[in-house]
Amino acid sequence: MQTLTVALEQRSYPIFIGENLLSQPACFKPYLKAKQILVVTNMTVAPLYLQTVVQLLLGQGYIVQTHILPDGEQFKDIRHIEGIFTQLLEHRFNRDCALVALGGGVVGDMTGFAAACYQRGVDFLQIPTTLLAQVDSSVGGKTGVNHPLGKNMIGAFKQPTAVLADTSVLDTLNDREYAAGLAEVIKYGLIRDLPFLEWLEQNMAGLVARDKRCLAEAIARSCQNKADVVAADELEANDLRALLNLGHTFGHAIETGMGYGEWLHGEAVATGMLMAADLSWRLGWLQAQEVERIKRLLVSANLPVVPPATISPSQFLAYMAVDKKVLAGKLRLVLLERIGHAIVTADFPLALLEQTLAAGTE
Ligand code: NAD
Ligand code: MG
Repeated sequence: MQTLTVALEQRSYPIFIGENLLSQPACFKPYLKAKQILVVTNMTVAPLYLQTVVQLLLGQGYIVQTHILPDGEQFKDIRHIEGIFTQLLEHRFNRDCALVALGGGVVGDMTGFAAACYQRGVDFLQIPTTLLAQVDSSVGGKTGVNHPLGKNMIGAFKQPTAVLADTSVLDTLNDREYAAGLAEVIKYGLIRDLPFLEWLEQNMAGLVARDKRCLAEAIARSCQNKADVVAADELEANDLRALLNLGHTFGHAIETGMGYGEWLHGEAVATGMLMAADLSWRLGWLQAQEVERIKRLLVSANLPVVPPATISPSQFLAYMAVDKKVLAGKLRLVLLERIGHAIVTADFPLALLEQTLAAGTE
């Protein structure tokens, strides 16, 4: 088992990474000081892992309730948060209760948001069960739900008391979801960790085969990168945390243009990262063979690298312009000054961006 720390003074917390963490009370008992626990999960994850989690908690003397959400991003809304509140109130959960999120990023974001709001804030612990949730969404404290007018538009910063990234639960994840998680893993190497990127190039075959040792290493190094960024910029007050959005503005355009759910987020981010690399090459920052190198790595992770031809360059631009990173009307992008070092910039000729979009979709 590996242990990392997200260093946020009194809100600091550990991330445990390894196999069968749930059978080790040391991983959760000190971080669940409450007696009453509500475990929130969804209909897909419940039959796989809920009983195990409930039994382990009961075995440690907790009073446990469970809340099973429907599975899907379309249920990540305020109405389903209210369902969680209703259960908490009906069972007279008081301020010193705690919530446990057992699931992917959707369950994690919703449970964290419910914990941030219930009686003005109760503890919550993350048990992420997708690769994306283990390397990204469970760490950093961004929680929330979607609004009909925008994704993740209602939310709060709420750090968990601990994160348990159990590599054994990833065996049941389907190949597409698994690859989508790898896109965010590769992102950390590209934006700020060249040695990790090189490690990924050496170990991608093992990762694709879900080798547990490779996985633990990749998750730990990803979480360390995310933890470092979050520790330096918890509330996204400067550009540092924005670097985590490499490929996301392009990817967001793909997700929106194709209709949500058609492309998985990680798939769109993978293609978006290659588009960001292409623009970085046009700016003279990357060599052509470096763009090829990034492409090779993404392809070896079974990720798509060509944007859908059905989105025209002008549509692409329109979708990109509604991205959250537009400040004062100027489109800001995360680009690669070199491999392993990203920057946020609005300082690029629009003509070059148009070339990238045209190249991708021709
Ligand atoms: P998800 O939560 O929808 O999970 C993907 C699918 O895998 C679901 O069908 C789920 O039921 C299933 N699943 C989960 N664990 C499984 C397992 N062990 N075995 C089999 N199936 C399993 O998607 P996700 O990719 O984990 O998360 C996406 C969400 O995360 C989005 O809502 C996004 O906004 C959010 N997110 C948040 C942050 C953050 O910082 N808070 C960062 C990135 C993404
Ligand atoms: Mg992402």
